[in-house]
Amino acid sequence: MTSPGFGKNMATTCMVTPGKNKDIRVTESRKLLWELGKVIDIKSISPKVKLFTIETKKPHRIEPGQHFDIKLTSDSGYVAQRSYSVISDSNYTNQFQFGISKITDGEVSKYLHEKLSISQNLLIRGPIGKYFNLNKTTESVILIAGGIGITPFIFYLRQKNYKNKISLIYSAKNQEEFLFKKELENKNKLYENFSLIVTLTKENKQTWKGLDSRINSKILKKTIKNHLGIKTTYFVCGGSNFVENISSKLIKIGIEYQDIKIERFGP
Ligand SMILES: Cc1cc2nc3c(=O)[nH]c(=O)nc-3n(C[C@H](O)[C@H](O)[C@H](O)COP(=O)(O)OP(=O)(O)OC[C@H]3O[C@@H](n4cnc5c(N)ncnc54)[C@H](O)[C@@H]3O)c2cc1C
Repeated sequence: MTSPGFGKNMATTCMVTPGKNKDIRVTESRKLLWELGKVIDIKSISPKVKLFTIETKKPHRIEPGQHFDIKLTSDSGYVAQRSYSVISDSNYTNQFQFGISKITDGEVSKYLHEKLSISQNLLIRGPIGKYFNLNKTTESVILIAGGIGITPFIFYLRQKNYKNKISLIYSAKNQEEFLFKKELENKNKLYENFSLIVTLTKENKQTWKGLDSRINSKILKKTIKNHLGIKTTYFVCGGSNFVENISSKLIKIGIEYQDIKIERFGP
């Protein structure tokens, strides 16, 4: 239920209403070992986000919604460790992609953006996380992402056959930060069962004629209406404020808390 972390990064995944989970129990942890990962590709996909591809010696079975930890150690022995959602085209692979947003004063993300280069090795461990596993759920889902919170959903959307209804509500700042734009728009054209709802909250109104408000109850209700009568699970991912805000809106609309799964990426 929680992801191991460093400092403020602890315990960022939980059910919406603490204390209401009847199946809560002590975590039975399996010992995950750190292994060397080699950086084989780095690509800028927006002014703030780079896509890092890391290769390990042995392959791992991975599910969308799972993450890996990346550990950095300074010469003095100081250790910083952060979690990153995994993206891949395959469920069994030794190559893992991580879409990482650069936080200006961020310890780890800044280092990865500014210092990490192709062929370097770094310590990673994973895959981690069962709770936000997008494959262990109803066939129909409504995915709600804020900014970099899109990463687990990209992996999920890459391996679906779209036999069931899937909606993605995505809030980004502007066109440049509309991550994986082409890929998402192509899927939207290709699959009748996939609905992409994008809102760009800081885009120039002259060039963007689509939605521009933060995700509100009206947008949520309209999407939920399209899933009427279909058993649906709601996955919400992004910064803490975003996740709190959306999940409380869903609860107010009448969605059962058990049907909402959240992943907080940070404050
Ligand atoms: C399960 C899980 C999956 C994650 N997946 C991803 C992912 O796919 N891509 C990704 O980019 N990040 C992801 N994160 C967030 C990531 O783990 C780090 O928290 C993030 O990279 C910031 O670390 P940092 O060391 O750069 O910043 P820190 O040094 O930890 O923080 C520096 C400052 O930035 C603030 N800050 C920290 N995180 C954020 C944030 N997300 N947004 C805004 N301000 C912030 C802090 O409050 C602090 O003031 C994930 C987190 C979790 C728990």
